[in-house]
Amino acid sequence: MKDKVFDCIIIGGGPAGLSAALYCARGGVEAAIIDSSAMGGTPVNYCEIENYLGFSKIQGYELCEKFEEHVDNFNIQKFPYEEIQKIDLVSSIKKITTLNGEFLAHSVIIATGAKPKKLGIKGELENIGHGVSYCAVCDGSFYKDKVVAVVGGGNSALEEALYLTNHAKKVYLIHRRNEYRADEIVQKRVSANKKIEPVLNSTVEEILSDEKVYGIKIKDTKTNETNVIYLDGIFPYIGLEPNTEMFQSQIQLDKNGFIETDCEMKTKTQGVYAIGDVRNTPLRQVITAVADGAVAGVKVSEYLLEKKLQLQNTGK
Ligand code: NAP
Repeated sequence: MKDKVFDCIIIGGGPAGLSAALYCARGGVEAAIIDSSAMGGTPVNYCEIENYLGFSKIQGYELCEKFEEHVDNFNIQKFPYEEIQKIDLVSSIKKITTLNGEFLAHSVIIATGAKPKKLGIKGELENIGHGVSYCAVCDGSFYKDKVVAVVGGGNSALEEALYLTNHAKKVYLIHRRNEYRADEIVQKRVSANKKIEPVLNSTVEEILSDEKVYGIKIKDTKTNETNVIYLDGIFPYIGLEPNTEMFQSQIQLDKNGFIETDCEMKTKTQGVYAIGDVRNTPLRQVITAVADGAVAGVKVSEYLLEKKLQLQNTGK
């Protein structure tokens, strides 16, 4: 890539990034997508998506495959498995250094998404892959006829608890309050599922293991009483934290670390846009990520045109 300056580099090949790429391509913007893993983003690991308009039910990986196939009809260069080492977003020509080389661009769209928040308790990190998992779709089949727990009260926790009943014989659904925040339709499905046992007003204090997880210590938040639940696996789904570590000094973040943008997806750093779960959006869904990508693709194309006109006027 030496010396080549793209019109736009999109960092992140999930639904937001792929949508931005499509709109960039249609607007004549020469764009490339780089991603630290394969294209598709987090929804590849979602069991079923039921609220993407036009598809009453579709597997996450299938929808992402369709997004990528659509983008492949255009001249978009894709660079998967590019681990970013260093980044300069402040200069007029943006520079992204990966293990494989350097990418230069007149503008950047950040679509790096978010990752699962950790419980931050004893036994969690050391047992990842030995009974602690953040991906029910990836690991659910290891728990055939076993007992597992899901932690959280949002859409992710309840949907993944439902998914896990396809494999496990029992799923404890542990939530710190006495009411869930998930959509009502999902809550009704959970109530109707006999394999799910809600454990409300409870927090997980410790994950117990010898060579692998065998139980969890939970605390009743009303009485402070502790109890042990014996099980084979635990799936924390307690929300998301943004993948913004590498941008911290160059982009304005909100108090939770999400990137602040205006309604045109512009950040305070010139020529840099942010879309999808990584920005301070009121709703984190595939459909809103895709919409963000569309806005950013169009706005980048306008920004580049303006920049070009300015350069022409100043004779540069
Ligand atoms: P979320 O909606 O933020 O819910 C996080 C849940 O974890 C909350 O119930 C919260 O409890 C609990 N929690 C947070 N920190 C905790 C801690 N330290 N210990 C114990 N519990 C903790 O997160 P999410 O479910 O991952 O969803 C993230 C976003 O994606 C949301 O906007 C969601 O709507 C969206 N999403 C949508 C779909 C869909 O539409 N099909 C599917 C998945 C996700 P409190 O309720 O007490 O705060």
